[in-house]
Amino acid sequence: MTAHRIGIIGLGKIAQDQHLPVIGANPNFELLAVSSQRGLSHRDARHTFQDYRELLKLPELEAVSICTPPQVRYAIAREALLAGKSVLLEKPPAATLSELEDLRRLAARTGRVVFTTWHAQYNKAVKEARKALAGWSVRRLLVTWKEDVRHWHPGQQWIWQAGGFGVFDPGVNALSIVTRIMPEPVFIKTADLSFPSNRDAPIAAALTFAMNHGEGDLQAVFDWRQTGPQSWDIEVETEAGLILKLSQGGSCLEIGGRLVVKEEPAEYEGIYRRFDALLNARQSEIDDAPFRLVADAFMIGRRVQVEPFED
Ligand code: NAP
Repeated sequence: MTAHRIGIIGLGKIAQDQHLPVIGANPNFELLAVSSQRGLSHRDARHTFQDYRELLKLPELEAVSICTPPQVRYAIAREALLAGKSVLLEKPPAATLSELEDLRRLAARTGRVVFTTWHAQYNKAVKEARKALAGWSVRRLLVTWKEDVRHWHPGQQWIWQAGGFGVFDPGVNALSIVTRIMPEPVFIKTADLSFPSNRDAPIAAALTFAMNHGEGDLQAVFDWRQTGPQSWDIEVETEAGLILKLSQGGSCLEIGGRLVVKEEPAEYEGIYRRFDALLNARQSEIDDAPFRLVADAFMIGRRVQVEPFED
């Protein structure tokens, strides 16, 4: 089978850190083109454009990875699908649920593939945690996602704008693990959202969840004001008293105090293996569960104003 000819739209941090090297190392993909508003290029790409619309005109282009901020992802994805291209959507896959629903419809109408990527789900430790929890009832969940926004998002203004999701930009990674490993669906019960007085997106959030069965103590705490050690941890306790700990963003798993998985994350290698399979099967994969929890938190959340945030 010939390699999938792919283009990347938006050459920001994640495109450079992950998409470009991972595509370059996967023989099932050929980087045909890139588009960058700032006019960046890449040595592996045969074509470079500043306007992604020009990239979408390439007849031999099969698919694009949309690595822009979420606010513009839908408009670009829609144009790509209508131009007959398949799309890989960075997370979060759109700015609203309705936009994502429309992409689902368009995928069916155009016969092209739409793939929502939740990179944290591609850790072996997450897969093992899902297996270990299958069939059990959960009585306690504690998600602690605390990081230093100045370190991880220097100069990124879009994350503070409406539709940039603020602390939910990393928080949705935790939610994508929760929706993957929990043996039954969880719902947002309460959400306290802390908005800096000079920003349109939250810097911190405290969530509680409900389930259909039982009265579990299910919580998540997201905070972007963490300095010193960073925390990307999820702890789950089953009714039987078994404790699972996922740490380091989902790359490390302990069950009952025993280390079960600890490995270097290879999330994007897994994402492109999956995209290859989906393109070959002409099948879309649209998982909106993590995104629905974010939408629900914003919908029922109580907003608290906190001190202004300066970069
Ligand atoms: P970023 O560094 O700000 O890069 C986004 C790039 O998109 C910009 O550099 C720009 O690149 C392009 N762009 C910006 N506005 C645009 C517009 N209006 N129309 C078209 N292109 C536009 O952000 P990032 O960290 O790479 O994040 C991008 C997405 O990946 C986000 O949804 C984020 O949640 C997700 N993500 C990020 C990370 C991470 O570690 N940073 C990890 C996983 C997922 P050009 O000038 O080259 O066009």
